[in-house]
Amino acid sequence: MDVTSSLRSLLPYGRRSIGINQLVDKLETYLPPEDVERVQAAYDFAHEAHSGQRRRSGEPYITHPVAVADLLADLRLDPETMMASILHDVMEDTPIVKEEIANRFGQEVADLVDGVSKLDQIQFKSRAEAQAESFRKMLLAMVRDIRVIMVKLADRTHNMRTLGSMPPAKRRTIARETLEIYAPIANRLGMHAIKVELEDLGFRSLYPRRYKVIETAVRRAKGNQKQFVGKIAAALEAALARNAVAARVEGREKEAYSIYQKMRRKKISLAEIVDVYGFRIVVGDADTCYRTLGIVHGTYKPMPGRFKDYIAIPRANGYQSLHTTLFGPNGMPIEVQIRTEEMHRIAESGIAAHWQYKEGGGSGRGQGDRAHEWLQQLVEIQQGGNSEEFLESVKVDLFPDKVYVFTPKGDIRRMPRGSTCVDFAYAVHTDVGNRCVAAKVDRRLVPLRTALRNGQTVEIITAKGATPNPSWVNFVVTAKARAAIRQYLKGLKRSEAIDLGRRLLGQALEEFSLNLRKVPGEDLDTLAVDLGLRNSDELLERIGLGERVAPFVARRLLPAEGSSSPEGSTAAGPLAIAGTEGLVVTYARCCFPIPNDPILANLSSGRGVVIHREACGNLSSFRKQPEKWVSVAWQPAGDRTFHVEIKAEVTNRMGVLAQVASAIAGTQTNIDRVSVVERDSDSSTLIFELLVQDRRHLARVIRAIRAMPEVLKVTRSLA
Ligand code: MN
Repeated sequence: MDVTSSLRSLLPYGRRSIGINQLVDKLETYLPPEDVERVQAAYDFAHEAHSGQRRRSGEPYITHPVAVADLLADLRLDPETMMASILHDVMEDTPIVKEEIANRFGQEVADLVDGVSKLDQIQFKSRAEAQAESFRKMLLAMVRDIRVIMVKLADRTHNMRTLGSMPPAKRRTIARETLEIYAPIANRLGMHAIKVELEDLGFRSLYPRRYKVIETAVRRAKGNQKQFVGKIAAALEAALARNAVAARVEGREKEAYSIYQKMRRKKISLAEIVDVYGFRIVVGDADTCYRTLGIVHGTYKPMPGRFKDYIAIPRANGYQSLHTTLFGPNGMPIEVQIRTEEMHRIAESGIAAHWQYKEGGGSGRGQGDRAHEWLQQLVEIQQGGNSEEFLESVKVDLFPDKVYVFTPKGDIRRMPRGSTCVDFAYAVHTDVGNRCVAAKVDRRLVPLRTALRNGQTVEIITAKGATPNPSWVNFVVTAKARAAIRQYLKGLKRSEAIDLGRRLLGQALEEFSLNLRKVPGEDLDTLAVDLGLRNSDELLERIGLGERVAPFVARRLLPAEGSSSPEGSTAAGPLAIAGTEGLVVTYARCCFPIPNDPILANLSSGRGVVIHREACGNLSSFRKQPEKWVSVAWQPAGDRTFHVEIKAEVTNRMGVLAQVASAIAGTQTNIDRVSVVERDSDSSTLIFELLVQDRRHLARVIRAIRAMPEVLKVTRSLA
């Protein structure tokens, strides 16, 4: 039976609703009794949940899910999809929660219902074509199980059938959405019958007058053609019979919406389209299709340039057929489609064909498998053409590696999977990224590192003068965000390095009783060029990064006749360290220096100055390179904290870690990290990395925990 025509015969508004008994009759034709019973149990549950609710038309609400299920029963879908289709509105419209559905009908059914409910929550507002394309992809990306889309398409189909009871404005919105979003999705998945019905209903509601004009023209043409159609069909059947080809020849209906689209696309008149006879010939196998083509071309002359081989090169949704146009009686064109039964079946139900219930072929296969199967089939039938490109285009839709999110204005942006708010900010504009300080997802404040999910609305909050945080590099996933943050840090590091270089060189010059400010700029530039560098800034940057040694550079700046040795010169003061130097001053993680600690620094190539405690064991390795030493001293500064590590040996008692941690917190100290090393059955060592201001602050912390009876010993880590 031709599914299209069976759907079309049901078309007009206000037809009687389908009852559960009719549905059960249909299910019994292909499902085993125990599965039919499960579907019936879902019906009983939904009936109860929706009791008292009515559709806008006045009918009991349950008629809607039953009608949706009935549409899917025509596609012979599996019991889980059938149950989910009957339950598809209970989460949305009744107090029933997902867990209850899972408990009663299984996780699979619950996930399907949940998926449909989630799709219902996102709204399409924009009217731009590119946005519609993105929105379709967003919907597909949101579903992990393609059956969710099938239920949604059936849901939409029934809502369109009963659109008459909606107020006109609402009707237009829904109709437009149907034409722009849902019909193309049905088409993409090869679900032709549903696509045709959605288009027909959508077109009729959105453009009632245009629909009427086309429909009338089609009906009139059909009347005029009746006689000829019979003659042509008889001629074709006779020719096929003479060649012993078993075939079914049928007249083909033309859909109003596709006529409308053809008129707009090809700019041809209505008469030119409707005065065409349409035929479909269905045969046994692909070879016979080509033989049939020969027979057909032998009966009526083919129009040059109109033959299309969609068997060798199928359409992206798997559609296969041979198309040709012939010169009919009186020169009237005849359009003919030639295909096999199998091609016909796939042309009607597309991906749904892979979900059709098969005995014994039950739930062994995973969700993705059948979608993959469909893909695989598309690849197999795609013998010619650019199959790689073809496959990509399908894969992008079915297995998206992108997330689709809304801007506050309702525009859709496509982001790589795993993208965070910061990635989004940089995608909007580099300036937005650089100045972003907070983000809202679905109007709620979230951390900037939050990964985005399909369908969310993302708003970025920026502040004047805000700058990127170096830690963002650790979680952003887009190249654009990463490059922009790195670029910023590089610039920052450069200016910080020049600054530090100037201080280091100044300090070195003091050893010779010279003042850097009194050294003429051109002398510094000349020296830079002598050293193979571009200019004085680059020289200072190299010094700041520890790639050039300040005393050596200083020596080359000395006046030629002056004393060439530092003897007798005033001792230079140490380099002041305030803890606010940024990226070119780092604190060694072997000894964790904090203010008031005696410190030393060494120049580390590329990293600038690294501060150690004088007592640090690692310093011995630098002893042989005295030119890399820098004398440093703490400079008082306000509110900054430094990392420091302490170890507390404790007796093994329940909750001891929590007690020590809360004692530390009691001294207004932040704990950055904690780990526990078991020493023996009686004692353990707790290692805390804390943030403190200076030694006094640290002493306060140590005193506080030393006083605890569980604490045996407290030491500060030192390499
Ligand atoms: Mn519904």
